[in-house]
Amino acid sequence: MKKTFLILVLCSVASLVSAGSFITLGEIVKRHSLRIEQNLANSLITLKSPTTTINLLPNLAGCTINGQYYNLDEPICYRGGRLTLPLSFLKVFPWSTSNKSKNTNKIADGQFRVVLDAGHGGKDPGAMANGVREKDIVFAIVKKVGILLSKYANIKVFYTRDTDVFVPLSGRGLKANREGADLFVSVHANASASASVHGADFYYVSATYDDWERAGEMNKKYCLNKRFFGEMDSSLTLYERRVYHFLNKQHRAMAKTFASILSDCFKLDVGNVVRGVRQARFHVLRMSPCPAVLIETGFLTNKQEAKLLVSDEYQQKIAQAITDAIVRASYYWK
Ligand SMILES: [Zn+2]
Repeated sequence: MKKTFLILVLCSVASLVSAGSFITLGEIVKRHSLRIEQNLANSLITLKSPTTTINLLPNLAGCTINGQYYNLDEPICYRGGRLTLPLSFLKVFPWSTSNKSKNTNKIADGQFRVVLDAGHGGKDPGAMANGVREKDIVFAIVKKVGILLSKYANIKVFYTRDTDVFVPLSGRGLKANREGADLFVSVHANASASASVHGADFYYVSATYDDWERAGEMNKKYCLNKRFFGEMDSSLTLYERRVYHFLNKQHRAMAKTFASILSDCFKLDVGNVVRGVRQARFHVLRMSPCPAVLIETGFLTNKQEAKLLVSDEYQQKIAQAITDAIVRASYYWK
């Protein structure tokens, strides 16, 4: 059951970009409902239908179909964080003419689909300091982002929670998957043992597969919220870990770019201290089927920043920065 679901996860990844003379692996997989498997040991990617097996290897200008080798005029490689194949692949692809007009994909409406994730909620208040609860301020900010984005017809917004309710971390990634999200934006507020620490951080998923040690070091160095590291990979099967690792790898470059855009927009619109764009293996980033970024908007443990974060005006500035970044991403990627 789980295995079937994860195949669907891969098939629903939004990769409808055919840049110039290339087509993304995601598009081929989605159009033809293929199963996809990746061998992490040798990077071999296998596409399967009931009658056909195709093997692809990144950086190789060729592929095998049912055991027969075909030359391609350009290598298969990552472009903008997505694995792309040269259009010459379609000449040897066995279903290239059969399904051309049957694109019923919901993402074909051309809208940029964003899942806004207000951290915590319900029984989980998140960080609490200076009389402020993280779950309340991040929810208020996310609502403001939603209102600002409603003016853009090319962007469709989904929420992991639209009220003060507890949503398990795994449920947040599933939401992104169900909605065929192009981008996942998780909004949080930070806490530190030091009351002087303040400013915003932008996280995308880190490159290494098992870097809990590194996460622990970062936790010490940057005074991150320890609870993020609570959920380890132990609940996942090896297959699930591999699928998410593959997805993370595919989307890391785009997530990093988006985190940088966010950082720039915060400097412009909010004017608060931007501590940096960083990598971490936060659960919501790791379990996302699309590029995902987690924003730590500021520190509730810093008195001045806590005061700002509860103010409607400051929340509006943050919402504007997040909105500007999403709008830029929507034009950039679609
Ligand atoms: Zn949080």
